[in-house]
Amino acid sequence: MPPLGLYIHVPFCSSICHYCNFNRGLFDEGLARRYAEAVAGEIRAAPGRFGLTAGDACADTIFFGGGTPSLLPATAIHAILDACREAFAVPPGAEVTIEANPESAAGPFLERVRAAGVNRLSLGVQSFREPELRRLGRIHDAAQARGAVAAAREAGFDNLSLDLMMWLPEQSVREWLDSVEAAIDLLPEHLSLYMLELYPNAPLRDEMARADWSQAPDDDAADMYEAAMAALESAGYWQYEISNVSRPGRECRHNLKYWTDGEWLGFGPGAHSTLAGARWRNVSGTDDYVSRVAAGLAVETERRTLTPEERWQEAVITGLRLQAGLSMRAVAGTYGVDLDARFGGDLERFQEAGLAVRDGDRLRLTRRGMLVANEVLRVFI
Ligand code: SF4
Repeated sequence: MPPLGLYIHVPFCSSICHYCNFNRGLFDEGLARRYAEAVAGEIRAAPGRFGLTAGDACADTIFFGGGTPSLLPATAIHAILDACREAFAVPPGAEVTIEANPESAAGPFLERVRAAGVNRLSLGVQSFREPELRRLGRIHDAAQARGAVAAAREAGFDNLSLDLMMWLPEQSVREWLDSVEAAIDLLPEHLSLYMLELYPNAPLRDEMARADWSQAPDDDAADMYEAAMAALESAGYWQYEISNVSRPGRECRHNLKYWTDGEWLGFGPGAHSTLAGARWRNVSGTDDYVSRVAAGLAVETERRTLTPEERWQEAVITGLRLQAGLSMRAVAGTYGVDLDARFGGDLERFQEAGLAVRDGDRLRLTRRGMLVANEVLRVFI
């Protein structure tokens, strides 16, 4: 069994951002305490659920995502990590990431979680420009983001990632690049760059309508993406995935499991798992999740076995997110699917349009192809 990834969903936030579509709610101390006990319990019970003995299965990445995991007390993070180490064999070199927001990433917290074994910090900076942060409903400012980076270095974090968002309301290409340059100046090992997605009922949609804010035209959004990737490349980062760049060797090993056909177990409300060709998710509501764990009831829901068709489609779609692309020979060997025979016409069209390139048996998207990846990847579904 290849090493697993463990994902721990922490569903609490200090306030709710205007664009957020994640599974989260406002922080409540009592509920957070019961949540931390429940998630540790769910982790300890995991080997038994899969017919394993505690410590049999190896987990070489652990990722605390949210929500805002940095709102939990460091003691709770420590206890959850202890549960992971009891239930799984976690090697000394395991990558252990925690997501944090700048306003809740104080020095003492960072020192304690670092001492507990967290060795990678992912900071939700989003922008270094105050008006943009206010429009998004973020509660930190650029000074707090810089302070959190300094506190992380002081606490001994040598693997730091910053999240930035582009195509924000009223944001120009130049303003976006100012944030990218400000991020580069902080010398993080890794950056994730996302385009703002306005889901149908996002409060930000209403605010934009009320305040008459708009997003830049599509061509500017394309310029934002391409210019940012070029600036990051000049600064020594390599774009290893559509939205992610890193210093060589500092790619996010946990997220790579999602893109390379890996297996992972998700714990906490709404967390998804993929193991041995099956996929399921946990119940979403935090109260529901906590009461079920306390009562010894299952938290798992919507379990299903992926069809052979879904398995190869997913391998192709996630593989093409990576700069390295995918080996068409490996797809044929593992899934019995000849991509040339089935999609030769589309693949030629993508190459002629400069969206994809063939390198021996490898197929990969160009940067322009990554920009319109959703349209390109749709042909495989
Ligand atoms: S901090 Fe993240 S998870 Fe929480 S509301 Fe904002 S975007 Fe959503």
